[in-house]
Amino acid sequence: MKTFNVPVIYRSPLISAIKQQRKQQDKMKKDFTPTALDFGPVKILLARHFGFCYGVENAIEIAFRTVDENEGKRIFLLSEMIHNPQVNSDLLSRGVRFIMDTGGKQLIPWESLNPDDIVIIPAFGTTLEIESRLSALGITPLQYNTTCPFVERVWNKADQIGKKDYTVIIHGKPKHEETRATFSHSQSVTPTVVVKDIHEAEKLAAYIRGEQPADSFYEAFKGQYSEGFDVTKDLQRVGVVNQTTMLASETQSIADYIRGVMQQHYQLEDAQVQERFADTRDTLCYATNDNQTAVTGMLEAQADLAIVVGGYNSSNTSHLVELCEEKLPTYYIASEEKLLSRDEISHWDFHHSQELHSTGYLPAKTPVTIMLTSGASCPDAVVEGVIRKLLSFWDLEDEVEKMSINFTA
Ligand code: SF4
Repeated sequence: MKTFNVPVIYRSPLISAIKQQRKQQDKMKKDFTPTALDFGPVKILLARHFGFCYGVENAIEIAFRTVDENEGKRIFLLSEMIHNPQVNSDLLSRGVRFIMDTGGKQLIPWESLNPDDIVIIPAFGTTLEIESRLSALGITPLQYNTTCPFVERVWNKADQIGKKDYTVIIHGKPKHEETRATFSHSQSVTPTVVVKDIHEAEKLAAYIRGEQPADSFYEAFKGQYSEGFDVTKDLQRVGVVNQTTMLASETQSIADYIRGVMQQHYQLEDAQVQERFADTRDTLCYATNDNQTAVTGMLEAQADLAIVVGGYNSSNTSHLVELCEEKLPTYYIASEEKLLSRDEISHWDFHHSQELHSTGYLPAKTPVTIMLTSGASCPDAVVEGVIRKLLSFWDLEDEVEKMSINFTA
């Protein structure tokens, strides 16, 4: 896979050495057991795959190169480039400004932009409406484009099935930048509706079967269907694509469920299902798959707790947390600063969008075994920072260098 020029501050010598060794030992990526780092009283089980993915490294390379090559110009990002606070704040400190926040709220009026300005499209991609708006302002919309190719692959899949007269059902978070972009591209070709989870898929199924009055659809799915969507006609042939970072098992369940609903409702033999349900396979990206499978592999081991590192608005990180929570106490933190002491931690409760303060997160007995992973937009340097901070509670920070040498040797 292509390698990118990512600022060294985001790298970690320890984690680079571990990843390199695991890659050499397992070129086909078949081994999802964690890497065990034994520091004596603290044992870290590091997930087989985590951290910066292809799309994030691509976006970082383009964004930082754009800043370097355009001194004196005004540089904007449509919104956060990726969902990582450190990377976004580094870009802000280099003079880049965000036009919108992650929820789509305007921070800088469009009218204040001019044709000399540079506007970078984030890794999530953007909507066709925003592309048109930029063009109208005299700004070439895709000149500085960091849209991840794996996101574009979903757009292409939606386009393909849309052109075959299937309605597109997007499994995604309706307000997430990527889902908004995918929705925009898809609806330009075919009727499109977003479902955020299996419950919404079940609600949608009631309209497929005609069990709910058609009129109620427009309230039930407000803000989640394309303009002109006709619920009496547009759910007769469907296909499912997803936001690339959703929980793989949930996307699969939704696709299987909708497929079953179509088959049963239209009384189709297996060979006929494609008449009503497009086979898209799942449209998750490789990184989401690898990171989620690595967490599943890690969870087969025993540990006292799990720590998941990433931006609090990062969809892929929250799904790693979701997986860990099923098995053991899990703490979602943005960086080592959240490890306040050996006893206290600030951590994100993504179910209720609030930061919690907990005590006694590390058991008193030793050795303490901690599972550790991070989202696809989290720099490895932040994960190393978390390891160092944990070790500092036992005065073991110096062991990091020795461990790096072990993996480099
Ligand atoms: S998580 Fe996947 S789709 Fe998203 S930026 Fe990374 S590689 Fe691209």
